Amino acid sequence: MRTLVMKFGGTSVGSPSAIQQTANIIQLHKSDWDNLVVVVSAMSGITDKLIQSARLAADNDGAGAREIITQIQNQHLEVVNTLVSDPAEKQHLLAVLQQRLDELSSYCQSIQVLGEVTPRGMDVISSLGERINAQMVATVLRSIGTPAQAVEASECIITDRTFQNAVPDMQRSREKIQSNLAPLFQQSIVPVVTGFMAATPEGVITTLGRGGSDYTAAILADCLDADEVWIWTDVDGVLSADPRVVPDARPIPEISFAEVGELAYFGAKVLHPKTIRPVVTRDMPLWVKNTFNPDFPGTRITQHPPRTRGEITAISTIKDLSIITVEGRGMLGVPGIAARTFGAVARTGASVLMISQSSSEQSICFTIPSLHNGEVIKSIESEMALELLRGDIDRVWSRNHVVIVSIIGSGMRETPGVSARIFGALGKNLINVIAIAQGSSEYSISLVLDQEDALRAVRAIHAETAPSPNGGSNGL
Ligand code: ADP
Ligand code: ASP
Ligand code: MG
Repeated sequence: MRTLVMKFGGTSVGSPSAIQQTANIIQLHKSDWDNLVVVVSAMSGITDKLIQSARLAADNDGAGAREIITQIQNQHLEVVNTLVSDPAEKQHLLAVLQQRLDELSSYCQSIQVLGEVTPRGMDVISSLGERINAQMVATVLRSIGTPAQAVEASECIITDRTFQNAVPDMQRSREKIQSNLAPLFQQSIVPVVTGFMAATPEGVITTLGRGGSDYTAAILADCLDADEVWIWTDVDGVLSADPRVVPDARPIPEISFAEVGELAYFGAKVLHPKTIRPVVTRDMPLWVKNTFNPDFPGTRITQHPPRTRGEITAISTIKDLSIITVEGRGMLGVPGIAARTFGAVARTGASVLMISQSSSEQSICFTIPSLHNGEVIKSIESEMALELLRGDIDRVWSRNHVVIVSIIGSGMRETPGVSARIFGALGKNLINVIAIAQGSSEYSISLVLDQEDALRAVRAIHAETAPSPNGGSNGL
């Protein structure tokens, strides 16, 4: 039995013509596989609008929320009116749409009365886009003669109660997924599963975090012992840089799980960072393909792709960060300072993206999202109150408006000179580096830079990675 899981992101289902294209791709590949599972995101922009409607309601702007709900309605109506002609199918789909929109309106009314929206409430609301869209895509598939049925992932993926970033219980999910999807496979019906959403064992709706539909596909693939996962998006695969930053970014034919994991962790939106977790242990091939250029092979993600020594695979950036420094001569050799510092950070819920410590142990610095800046400093200051009083620690301070630029590539391992080339490129452009960290895996080098230098830095480093005229990399 060969099983394929295909996931289509927001832009791949963002308009009537995109949904038509998606349906054609599904139909084309269905006959090549014994079992085919489709995962869909909400139409592009819809999840943002759902969240916005809830926030407006919480701010007592009922009219604003209603205006957004009308926009959501119109975006979906355009699809139904353009793509569904069978009267019974159309009537059913319009009823589903109306029911979901009525639910949304009544949630917004309650939020307006309460004056706040809880993470749990936000999950119910933000998952509505996927729930409507799975129904639409399944209907369009049926209309072109491919049997399909919408499946709500709340019936399949069981998670804990960490609303907005829920953690799946793989064992329980496995049983649910298999028992819900097997009957459809037997009848040769394509399940069209809602991405992003899941539920607690009690059936309370949760979500897997923004961009989480990629993760949904990987969870389903793992639980179904699938052979491959194909992530369909709006670019030609994983590119050597964010195409919005580097217009001549190149598609990468093959990349390792480790590299793509670093890339996703360090901000490349193309894959949700958790996606590779379920597939990597099984060495299951994962492809990233372009819905709007379906004949292009895209990127294959595998365990050990061939690499040229010294080659950089990709560059990514995370913006809106602060670098926090804890410094003082009295820290020298005092055990436990780092543990207590990061304990204090953890209590605020801020995630630390990068750490570096000078060998003299006179300072520890680390990078966090700027959003958490104030509370992190306060938390460390209260943890270190005694050391600050004694003068062992001089100060805890932050530098804001910084970015992390990560240079990723397993070809950089054990190859001297790569950092020299990177710093050379930065030096030539007079770009100052605030902090540096290299993972011991040597898959990535991360630099902290001023946000205003980020664009120039990424372009300068990317230019250094351009393939040489003879076809290979210039061996950075
Ligand atoms: P989807 O809705 O299909 O999940 P996303 O918008 O989440 O798509 O992710 C795809 C987008 O990620 C691309 O359109 C591109 O702008 C952006 N992106 C950022 N970095 C990269 C990269 N290194 N490779 C490919 N795409 C990237
Ligand atoms: N629709 C969700 C989001 O916008 C999930 C996804 O697109 O992967 O975050
Ligand atoms: Mg995405």
